[in-house]
Amino acid sequence: MALRTILTVGDEMLKKKCRPVTEFNDHLATLLDDMTQTLLESGGVGLAAPQIGVLRRVVVLLDINQEPEEVIELINPEVIDMNEPEQVIEGCLSVPGTYGYVMRPTWAKIRAQDRHGNWFEREGEGIVAQCFCHETEHLDGHLFTEKVLEYVEVEQE
Ligand code: ZN
Repeated sequence: MALRTILTVGDEMLKKKCRPVTEFNDHLATLLDDMTQTLLESGGVGLAAPQIGVLRRVVVLLDINQEPEEVIELINPEVIDMNEPEQVIEGCLSVPGTYGYVMRPTWAKIRAQDRHGNWFEREGEGIVAQCFCHETEHLDGHLFTEKVLEYVEVEQE
């Protein structure tokens, strides 16, 4: 496994629409392993492939509602259901130090493939639901800053 560099706002890769994954091979497995290592190292809750310069529809996220926390791999993900959005605070590994209020569902259902190509559905609440939306938007070249209603100052630990 290898740590990858996380691209930050201003990088053109973050604005591009990603292509679907069609081959579920060793190359994909390596990408997923690297993304997981990079995510865990970053302290974030989600990472999309374009954030490390790979224009494929691949996401890893940390389901912090599980005990212990569980890394979920999402290939070709699509949010297929959600509840009424509420105003929540959001940030992004590619926009370091910036936080703002956005409208996000508190519950969402996603459909995706695993690293072997098997389709599955998964529900998420709270930050996980927020992350489903945030990360799939990355795959279409969008950043959360396009949706911010108001920026907020967050105290760093
Ligand atoms: Zn992000």
